[in-house]
Amino acid sequence: MKDILPEEARIRDRVERIAREVLERHGFRELRTPILERTELFARGIGEATDIVSKEMYTFASRSGDSLTLRPEATAGVMRAYIEHNLHAAGGLQRLYTIGPMFRYERPQKGRYRQFWQVNAEVLGSDVPELDAELICALAQIIGACGVADYRLELNSLGCPECRERFRAHLQGYLRERLDQLCPDCRQRAETNPLRVFDCKASGCQAALKDAPVILDYICDDCRRHFEAVQDYLGLAGVRFSVNPRIVRGLDYYRRTTFELSSERLGAQSAFAGGGRYDGLVKQLGGPDVPGIGFAIGLDRLLLLLPEDNHEPRPAYLATLGDEARRAGFVLAESLRARGIRLEWDPAAKSLKAQMRQADKARARVALILGADELARGRVVLRDMDTKEQHEAALEAEVLAGELAARLQETEDKGKKS
Ligand code: AMP
Repeated sequence: MKDILPEEARIRDRVERIAREVLERHGFRELRTPILERTELFARGIGEATDIVSKEMYTFASRSGDSLTLRPEATAGVMRAYIEHNLHAAGGLQRLYTIGPMFRYERPQKGRYRQFWQVNAEVLGSDVPELDAELICALAQIIGACGVADYRLELNSLGCPECRERFRAHLQGYLRERLDQLCPDCRQRAETNPLRVFDCKASGCQAALKDAPVILDYICDDCRRHFEAVQDYLGLAGVRFSVNPRIVRGLDYYRRTTFELSSERLGAQSAFAGGGRYDGLVKQLGGPDVPGIGFAIGLDRLLLLLPEDNHEPRPAYLATLGDEARRAGFVLAESLRARGIRLEWDPAAKSLKAQMRQADKARARVALILGADELARGRVVLRDMDTKEQHEAALEAEVLAGELAARLQETEDKGKKS
């Protein structure tokens, strides 16, 4: 679990804002659920045989003896809230999103942490393929708006439970004949959750899968039509994708459409977003039989892909000389900030030179210099920190705020263009 320092927090904030904006344009509304849920919710929702539930959850007993778990993913909690608050009673579609930390006890490495952040989006209420395509379009728009273009979008269909069961049996038969080639984990997966073997990175397991059956050969006509329609809509929207019948995803609840976004730039943990349809999950958790589909973006990994960011807004900096000027400066600083000006100062600094050094460090666009002499005349010196030009202006917050706003805005616009 890592600390997020200010430089990174600012970039995260920007990405989160982009995600909110794109999702809200698509009609999503925010839902915030607790970070803790009852353990059984995840056991029932995600599946006992998944890696997440069997070995990656932070689970503990509360004082009253309940077993609680730090959420390892968002969908189960969103479904619980959806059922608990009768959100389905409104009828029609519910488009919900949530942004926040998830927790998994995994071996840490680049792009893999024990506390990590996700943007989650879920559409509940219908299983028409337009919704699958629309959700994937929204996801692609978020990633595009973040400035990331070099990634792969891979699609698959896991079919309905009947297709999946048929496939599972065939795959299991195939794997049982090759148990000696599999890693110890996959030998067990072959029995409990054979589809998961596709996700194993071990070279022996990958080699053993070379001629393995693929799910797309086992899906029924309805599932096939659905999958074709999703691809058709993505094509119409100009979203580039490829079909990869080996994208199975780790969780038990997926049905039909599944998808994953990945980038070679990320190394071993190459997937930075993924999702799929989970018709049947709401019912399984005790709610009505409402179909749904969702995605999760791993923010920590998306951050590793972002282009260099030079959008940090530049502040004004106030330098004061002497006790009187510091007193007046205090009032000036607050009234400028109240008028929307981003302004920094250091009332503990001793010399003008030290304050100018700090102004440079803060990447200030303009410095306001206020000494006893200026104060007596009701003036303040404005110094352009880039050109070093100086001029005096009236010490009047309203007028100063206007001039500063124009200058700071100018640099922000320049930053955005570059
Ligand atoms: P999953 O629920 O496993 O499909 O994860 C969805 C996304 O969350 C992945 O594509 C990753 O980007 C991200 N993710 C999952 N586990 C971790 C982790 N331990 N650390 C950082 N990001 C993660």
